Order: sequence, then structure tokens, then C-alpha cells
Amino acid sequence: DYTIGWVTTTDEEYRAASWMVDQVHLPNSPFRQLNKRRKFNYQLSRVGNHFVAISVPILGYILNAADVIDDMRETFPQIRFVLLVGTASGVPSLGNDERPDEQCTVPDVRLGDVIVGTRTVVPCSGEAVEPPETELEGGNTRAIFTTITEFRRRLSSGVDTEPSVTAMVKQKCSRDRRFSRPHLPSDRLYRAEYPHISDRCECLIPTARQDSVTVSRAQRPPNRQLEVHYGSVCAVKHCIRDALRREELALENDVLCFIPGIDDMTDEIDCLPILGISDYADSHQYSRAWMEYAALTAAVCAKEFL
Ligand SMILES: [Zn+2]
Repeated sequence: DYTIGWVTTTDEEYRAASWMVDQVHLPNSPFRQLNKRRKFNYQLSRVGNHFVAISVPILGYILNAADVIDDMRETFPQIRFVLLVGTASGVPSLGNDERPDEQCTVPDVRLGDVIVGTRTVVPCSGEAVEPPETELEGGNTRAIFTTITEFRRRLSSGVDTEPSVTAMVKQKCSRDRRFSRPHLPSDRLYRAEYPHISDRCECLIPTARQDSVTVSRAQRPPNRQLEVHYGSVCAVKHCIRDALRREELALENDVLCFIPGIDDMTDEIDCLPILGISDYADSHQYSRAWMEYAALTAAVCAKEFL
């Protein structure tokens, strides 16, 4: 019986997930028949000691996470909880100059880092993000994260997952170089008031670095390039590609990242988002490599938890 659902919505997320599988289970004939009728396909597998059903995206398409979760619950009634493992847009630390209310406790989220969502803030209406006049309201946000006993126990014991995640990422990257860690200079954080300028934006020049438009951040020590953060995530209908909007939502809701496509999640779902950061929710263009690397760091982190 498959008790854990592992949701991937893009091809690279699925590839990364498939590398974490210890044993692939071939579906029996009733399941194959069932799979034909369902909206989504699933890879049945064993990860560690758990029987896990992983959603299989259609090549070139991005699945809607909420739809997959609904379908997964119907297909596998024994599922105890769902891991949403993928990439997300992060809320970076801008330092005290730009965000005066920000305390030093705001996590320093960078590309490739992993966010474990201990709470998911869901906008009250499905349109909370697109039209600027609809705001997220504190009173209408819902915590969909309910107790996931095993994970909570690990979180509360303060396990430092970073070194093992880094080691495993290195090992897995040898399978496909596209998933290896991109060069650090491509992790550029632009000031919120510097939007993307088509044709001549600083982000389009590989080596350029205008300090006037970027936020300067201290280098991390070589053995701590990847951090795992725990905190609130914001479920939104569409991707956010606007740094000022990001700042607004982050300040109001105290969230570390945005996950698109799950704004209409239902209350009763026990879902733990484990998300690799592939961009900063601004309008700039990012190297695709961060998408693949972030998918991998999230998958490795998810396996660590199981
Ligand atoms: Zn740009």
C-alpha cells in the first residue's frame, strides 16, 4: 500500500525524484487499467522504508499541483501525507537598508537553497495574486500544514540536514551534468526597484555586475553553500515576477517563498512542501540551470526526511 504521495509537476522535478527511488515497483494489471482512466500517471516505488507514489508529469507541460494532489488522494486512499517536492521562487534577505522592519533573523535565502514549508499561507480567494487590488488578509489565511508526526519530530530535534544534502547532491550530479550546481556569479540578487529591462538588462550579460543595481551579500563559507530553511510558504495561483509585489506579500505574510498552482488547496490535506529556490520572484531572467539544480536539492532533501 502506498502511504506517501510525492508530487512533481515538471519534467526536471520528476527526473530528480526518480534518482531518489530505491526500488521501482512494476504496476500490476488492475493498477495499469486504473492508471489509464486517471488524469495523471504515477510511478510506484520504494524510497527508504516507504512505499511512495510519484506523479509523472507529461514532457514539456507543468502540472497543476492541486489537481495532482486531488487525483492522488482518490487513486491511493491509503496515502497519509503528500510531499510537494519542486522548485519555487524565494524571498531573499535584502538587508536592513531595503527592508527596515527586517530583523537579522530573516533567513538568508539564496538560489539552490531548500525551504521546508512548516506552514502554508493560502490566499482567501483564488485571485489573490493577479489583480493588485485583492490583498492577502491575515484573518483569511489558513494553515494547511497539520501535524506530520515523523517530520515534526525531526524538525524539533534540530537536525542539520545541510552537509548530507550537499554530499548527496554532488553524488547525484554525476548522472546528469545539467543538474550540477551553477556558477555562483549567476546568483545575482537585484534591488527590488530595479526591474528587468528587455534587451539591455544587466542580468542578460553573463559577467556583468553593477553593484549599484545588485544587493551585496557576504559569501558563504565553501562548506555551507546550501542551506535548508524552515518556515512559511505562500501558495499563489500564478508565478510572481515582480520584486515589489514579492516584497509586499512577504512583509504581509512573513513567508520564505511562493509556490504557484496550489492556491485552491483544501483544508484536510496533509501536505509538506519541500522546495528548491530557482529564482527570486522578480522580473529578471535566470539561468535555467538553477531550475534543475533546485529541483535536485529539493528531491535530495525530501529523501533525507523519509
Ligand atoms: Zn533583468
